[in-house]
Amino acid sequence: MVLIDHGRCIGCGICIPYCPRSAIRLDPNIRKAYINTEECVECGTCVRVVQCPRDAIVGVVEGYVREVQAHFSDPYTLHPSTGIPGRGTEEMKTNDVTGRFKKGEVGFAIDIGRPLIGVTFAEVGRFIRTLNTVGVEWEKANPILYLLKDLEKGEFPEELKKVKIHSAVLEFKVPISRVRDVIEKLKYLAETTDTVFSLGVISRVEEDFTIPVINVLGELGLKVSPWAKTNVGLGRPLIE
Ligand code: SF4
Ligand code: SF4
Repeated sequence: MVLIDHGRCIGCGICIPYCPRSAIRLDPNIRKAYINTEECVECGTCVRVVQCPRDAIVGVVEGYVREVQAHFSDPYTLHPSTGIPGRGTEEMKTNDVTGRFKKGEVGFAIDIGRPLIGVTFAEVGRFIRTLNTVGVEWEKANPILYLLKDLEKGEFPEELKKVKIHSAVLEFKVPISRVRDVIEKLKYLAETTDTVFSLGVISRVEEDFTIPVINVLGELGLKVSPWAKTNVGLGRPLIE
């Protein structure tokens, strides 16, 4: 938990605009800053970035729930399920050697909660339940799956359901023939969610340099910005 040491704070207010959740407030009665723990998601920005003139901001993440929040909010925190910082896996970035996305398959990475809004685990669970109805294949190394109590039901442990995090990344893949079903569900989720999400679509480039999923997405009314990530020197290619 991030705390403000009232013995040191002089109420200058420098720290207030740095918090992406507007969780740092000034108490006008005592002229000291304090942190609204209901809003704080343990992103660590205030501890890392603010040049507090009195070194009054103290970062002490303790307790299971606060640790989980830090794993999904602070990009400098190693996640116990992946051993790497961040909320997802390497996705497509190492596909040349891992072969995670095979020919005819399309991957999806959905970043829920960014920017600024955040998301509860209960809402992440609703996304998972909805996408389960179209038979997606979840990425097993994804940190969110590591926390789930029941993947089929998209159910998290009771103590996490109302907890808010900076964002959650969901990763899965489907055969290209099922992309339409996935997009339909995502459109439904976009209309009914109380937060925001962005969508990354992962596809291999064919030998003739075409990317078939772009046509499918275009037919569904989605504008595509194709970007490539190339990692060189990763090791022996295993992809067929
Ligand atoms: S920057 Fe430091 S001294 Fe100023 S209000 Fe924030 S915690 Fe207090
Ligand atoms: S840890 Fe992040 S969310 Fe919490 S008070 Fe600091 S900047 Fe705000």
